[in-house]
Amino acid sequence: SPQTTVGTLEDAGVSGDTLETLSARVRTTGNQDEITVRTPITDEPIGSVPACTATDVTTAVERARRAQSNWASRSVAERAAVIERFGDLVAEYREWLLDVVQLETGKARHHALEEVLDVPLTCSYYADEGPSMLADESRSGAIPLASDATVSYDPLGVVGVISPWNYPLTLAMTDTIPALLAGNAVVCKPDERTPFIALALADLLSEAGLPDGLFGIVTGEGATVGPALIDAVDYVAFTGGTETGRTVAEQAGRNLIGCSFELGGKNPMVVLEDADVETAARGAVKGAFTNAGQLCLAPERIYVHEARYEAFLEAFVGATRKIRLGHAFDYGPDVGSLIDGDHLETVREYVESAVDDGASVLSGGRARPDVGPFWYEPTILTDVEPDAKLACEETFGPVVTVHPVADTEEAIERANDSEYGLNASVWTTDRDRGREIAREIDCGTVCVNDPYTVGWAAIDAPMGGVGDSGLGRRHGPEGLRRYVDAKTIATSR
Ligand code: NAD
Repeated sequence: SPQTTVGTLEDAGVSGDTLETLSARVRTTGNQDEITVRTPITDEPIGSVPACTATDVTTAVERARRAQSNWASRSVAERAAVIERFGDLVAEYREWLLDVVQLETGKARHHALEEVLDVPLTCSYYADEGPSMLADESRSGAIPLASDATVSYDPLGVVGVISPWNYPLTLAMTDTIPALLAGNAVVCKPDERTPFIALALADLLSEAGLPDGLFGIVTGEGATVGPALIDAVDYVAFTGGTETGRTVAEQAGRNLIGCSFELGGKNPMVVLEDADVETAARGAVKGAFTNAGQLCLAPERIYVHEARYEAFLEAFVGATRKIRLGHAFDYGPDVGSLIDGDHLETVREYVESAVDDGASVLSGGRARPDVGPFWYEPTILTDVEPDAKLACEETFGPVVTVHPVADTEEAIERANDSEYGLNASVWTTDRDRGREIAREIDCGTVCVNDPYTVGWAAIDAPMGGVGDSGLGRRHGPEGLRRYVDAKTIATSR
């Protein structure tokens, strides 16, 4: 693949002093242990944050709890005004936020932009529509002459948000925004590799007028901070890997608190006989290689009608070979780094084991240390057995397998042959048929003629997974109502 130069860290519009100021927000004592944060761009340390203990977590949640009752007593309109202002501030400071996201994740700037822009959209949607979703409702009951009932939507208390590194800005905020609007406090535990963007957002929430203590952050190791947080909060919104999700679910179950899980995926893309192969190939490039494939919604297996298989492969491989790898704090490079060396090893291992079993590499298939320490080429494989690890398990890297299918029925069957069910896409020139087929695919979101963006951007429609991909829905009314308890007051006439 062509490559662009790796930008120097000095080009980032964020200094070590700024990161130090941000981490001071979570420093409670002078002698806390620290976690060093490194940038994947060069693998150099960029700063450190406290490794919070269970006691630090309890203190943060108690502080949030004290702030919450006052916040809940404010009108929804007042809370919405703070959320709206926060969205405006994210838009205003977007260049600076993009620098922090790039520094922490090594992703390409246009992929960072997708997540930065998601926040103002989420804020204005919930600020505009949320108040009516939270308004009291009148119900007449089964015997209207005998009673009437009022339903109110009361906040839960303190919501714990546990977020991953791949979209550290939007995934820290997408649950926080509706939870705060509903009158809750939030304590967020960002991934240990990407804490600074969450800390920067905490500053902007304060600037927007959010009262002190209502949005807390606890940094540190997942295995220490996560369980302490789940023990202290009233609801946990978890985004991350399926295995961690199971552990979180067990603990939430023991504590009998509400919980939601946005987990992994092995997302299928189905290309029908009547599809425009050029459009489908462009969609495959966008879907499979956005954020170097470290996107829960990214297609990782593509089923193409055998009549279009060769044409699709030619277009897909051609477009993939043009992708520019590299890093710069501008919009030059197309695809950035993987998050770290461990993840690079996982991706490499998946590809090598498939190749050992007879898979063919049509593009990529190599790490690129000449570009940066954790870069991996956008990779297309064929001849991968249906039960190979690479065909069944989430790779979460820039790797996709392509398979010919005899007809639509086989495509649907193979798409559904997975424990996961997060996102899928159907490609056809007949949009109505595409929507019919979408109904037969077992996923929380199915996009027609688009890999994932239209589903993600449908902020008023629910998003989430079935099976091993999760439980619960974010976005839309569903994503707000999960942060309230419905309470009924029934009166006899
Ligand atoms: P992970 O499960 O290892 O970590 C996610 C978060 O959980 C981190 O903050 C981590 O510190 C924390 N954590 C770790 N151990 C914990 C414990 N015992 N208790 C509580 N919290 C704990 O996730 P990862 O593998 O680094 O992230 C990538 C995964 O996230 C992929 O599988 C991806 O598909 C998934 N993901 C899903 C969505 C979605 O919306 N469905 C979005 C993004 C990422």
